[in-house]
Amino acid sequence: MKNFILIVCLVLVYAGCSKNDGSGSSSSSDKLATGASAHDFLSGEVYTTVTIQVEYSPGMQPQLQSINNLISFLQAHLNKASITVTQSPVGSIGKSTVSINDVSSFEDKNRTAFTSGSNMAVCILAVDADYTTPGVAGVAYRNTSLVMLEKTIEAASGGLDQPSRIKIETTVLEHEFGHLLGLVNNGTAMVTPHEDEAHKPHCNNNNCLMYYDIENSGFMSQLGNAVPKLDDNCINDLKNNGGK
Ligand SMILES: [Zn+2]
Ligand SMILES: [Zn+2]
Repeated sequence: MKNFILIVCLVLVYAGCSKNDGSGSSSSSDKLATGASAHDFLSGEVYTTVTIQVEYSPGMQPQLQSINNLISFLQAHLNKASITVTQSPVGSIGKSTVSINDVSSFEDKNRTAFTSGSNMAVCILAVDADYTTPGVAGVAYRNTSLVMLEKTIEAASGGLDQPSRIKIETTVLEHEFGHLLGLVNNGTAMVTPHEDEAHKPHCNNNNCLMYYDIENSGFMSQLGNAVPKLDDNCINDLKNNGGK
């Protein structure tokens, strides 16, 4: 089986007027732009815990190992006392290809956990659809929301010459969450310039998790289950914005 599907990522670029200035200001809203809550995720100043609600359409539940990998990734970079995940089934998104408007209204219909008190809530949708732009496997579209296009992920994984589903899912989950953490230069300022000018807001290192073209990153073409990691530039940015 030939793997012809490009796995790329779209992100709604953070164009808010109050770009994170490191002041630790926070908002209880879960409808801000992607990257707007980066500091709140990274530091333990205001929010001490994170709860992630995974809502999956029929047959689209992410692999348990993918979720466990995401938790380990977050524990490594977020200053939080606890990070927990719940998974619950929801209905079909009802279309074979979806836009961000479809995804947003699907979230509005199904999300029940919101940021409050000292807990940050995250909504991860795993939908039974492809994106309107072919090959898009995930989109980080709000400050505490991301979507996994599981049909696209399914088609790009598990066959001969294809990476495993766990490898693709883990990479997409961690990459999209990286955008919620403000990478690259989209809510978290850069310590050293490393933004891919042609593919903002991504990293210019093709061995980094935050490279724009996940499929063609150096790691993805390798055999085995190694998932791309953040490079030093991305890690330094997270540390500088309250993370680790
Ligand atoms: Zn991306
Ligand atoms: Zn990087």
